[in-house]
Amino acid sequence: MSDCIFCKLASGAIPSNKIFEDDDVLVFHDIHPVAPVHFLVVPKVHIVSLAHAEVEHQALLGKLMLVAARCAREQGLVDGYRTIVNTGAGGGQSVFHLHAHVIGGPGLSPRIAEVVTY
Ligand code: AMP
Ligand code: ZN
Repeated sequence: MSDCIFCKLASGAIPSNKIFEDDDVLVFHDIHPVAPVHFLVVPKVHIVSLAHAEVEHQALLGKLMLVAARCAREQGLVDGYRTIVNTGAGGGQSVFHLHAHVIGGPGLSPRIAEVVTY
């Protein structure tokens, strides 16, 4: 998708603050972090949202979760973190290329409706 910001980041057409990359996945820091650690796990292939994922994406979806966990560990989130996939406008999705948010660090609220306690 030529006008998709995450496709442009995934292809390297525009630079990202990268944490991890391989043939399938790009992980980078969110440009507007809502917690001390906030990064995005993005498949390189353009999938509009989780609701658009197909059976052929099953292994890739699993990989996104495992990469999220590994990057969370490497970012020092040893006490835990929250992994969120906003889906569709009603689910708060603003970039329509599937991605998982990983947020964590000091101050993260235990309540899912709040991001941070401060
Ligand atoms: P969502 O609202 O779930 O679609 O999340 C989209 C996220 O992408 C937001 O948290 C934005 O801050 C983030 N974002 C948008 N553009 C960029 C960018 N160029 N680099 C890093 N993060 C971005
Ligand atoms: Zn895209």
